[in-house]
Amino acid sequence: MSNGGPRSQTILVVGAGIAGITAAVEAAEAGHDVVLLEQGPSLGGRVAQLNRYFPKLCHPSCGLEINFQRIKKNSQIKVMTMASVAGVEGGRGNYTVTVKTSPRYVNTRCTACGDCAKATSLEVPDPFNYGLSRVKAAYLPHEHAFPMRYVIAPEVIGTPEADKIKAACTYGAVDLNESEQRFEIKAGAIIWATGWKPYDANRITPYSYGLSPDIITNVEMERLANHTGPTGGKLTRPSDGAPAKKVAMIQCAGSRDQNHLPYCSRICCLGSMKHAAYLREQYADAEIDIYYIDIRAHDKLEAFYNRLRADPQVHFIKSKPGHIVVGEDGRPHVCGEDTVTRELYDRPYDLVVLATGMEPNAARGLAAPAGIEQDEYGFLLAHEGDDEGMFSCGVAAGPLDVSMSVQSATAAALKAVQAVRAGARG
Ligand SMILES: Cc1cc2nc3c(=O)[nH]c(=O)nc-3n(C[C@H](O)[C@H](O)[C@H](O)COP(=O)(O)OP(=O)(O)OC[C@H]3O[C@@H](n4cnc5c(N)ncnc54)[C@H](O)[C@@H]3O)c2cc1C
Repeated sequence: MSNGGPRSQTILVVGAGIAGITAAVEAAEAGHDVVLLEQGPSLGGRVAQLNRYFPKLCHPSCGLEINFQRIKKNSQIKVMTMASVAGVEGGRGNYTVTVKTSPRYVNTRCTACGDCAKATSLEVPDPFNYGLSRVKAAYLPHEHAFPMRYVIAPEVIGTPEADKIKAACTYGAVDLNESEQRFEIKAGAIIWATGWKPYDANRITPYSYGLSPDIITNVEMERLANHTGPTGGKLTRPSDGAPAKKVAMIQCAGSRDQNHLPYCSRICCLGSMKHAAYLREQYADAEIDIYYIDIRAHDKLEAFYNRLRADPQVHFIKSKPGHIVVGEDGRPHVCGEDTVTRELYDRPYDLVVLATGMEPNAARGLAAPAGIEQDEYGFLLAHEGDDEGMFSCGVAAGPLDVSMSVQSATAAALKAVQAVRAGARG
């Protein structure tokens, strides 16, 4: 649906995870003005929260930093953090997008000196560590944050603590009067790169998440392993800080299950193998049991699987555990039946890691305009018609790993460029 009025050559990218960042950079380097919206305080999405990423187990800052440099050097990309879409009208070549920004309470004068954080003793759950640790109420999103700018937790606004934080800033960067703003921008094409959230493990009641601190999820494991995580990177039992050496990984926790996520998230098997590698690096005597239905290690990542499979201290157990209970010894016990040997088991562990899947970030209601639809699971599907100007990429479009997200983002950028150029001719 293209419509009348002046046509815009600007490409709007919604979501600044690895997919949105890639799409923005590719479109801008092809010569287009790009607006990149991110609802959070910094760019990078879930990849920034990984400890390392397969296949090479690189630190995520490697891949992200290169892209941050490309953004900094390109005057055609306008980045807005704390920003999301409140509504879209129009069609290809002529979208009017209502952007909504939430207050950060810190303006661009911030030098990230940290005096605001020193001024307060109040702490809030650290969103970057999935609430596994606490952070000062004036905080930097994380050590490699881009933009490198503090945020003030909304909980302190209106309290004397907020006044202390403001008084400590000698740059005039704290603005406690910031409020939600709405404004319109014009765009010729829109790329939705809104990514995913972890499936809520509380909903898998037989697995007792929430009944023991020693039953955690795979995304929490990423933070536990990281040097800026809650334990400084030590893989320990959250209950008492003892080394986590006997560890169970539960594959398909909620995935491929009609009661939860009916689909396969594609990356969880490799994610758990990566976690086994973290444990084996840290403890020579670690023993890891990976409970699986079947292993899905696709393409080039088969080699990573074969490496782990050859490790005598990593045991692959073909079984979907029936339940996890907290035993009288206080430890989580994994219970079920081995599909191969038919043996019934009830095994205690230091730590149980639930490999929960990726659920698309709710974009329902937002993505209603013509040109984008959701599949039955909530992933965004772009129409491929000549007249469309909306595209999706990364995990917003389906469960993908980083390299596949990057590929899909490059494809979306190309389609968006074609759409605005066709719009200019139309
Ligand atoms: C436990 C685990 C381990 C993993 N490990 C690996 C690995 O080692 N290697 C690998 O290749 N892959 C790994 N993955 C997969 C990887 O995390 C994804 O491929 C990657 O996050 C996809 O990036 P994305 O940009 O599509 O989505 P995201 O990372 O989710 O980024 C989306 C961004 O959009 C923002 N956003 C959402 N909605 C809006 C909105 N309405 N307005 C504005 N902004 C919005 C979000 O805040 C976020 O910043 C792992 C996944 C899991 C679960």
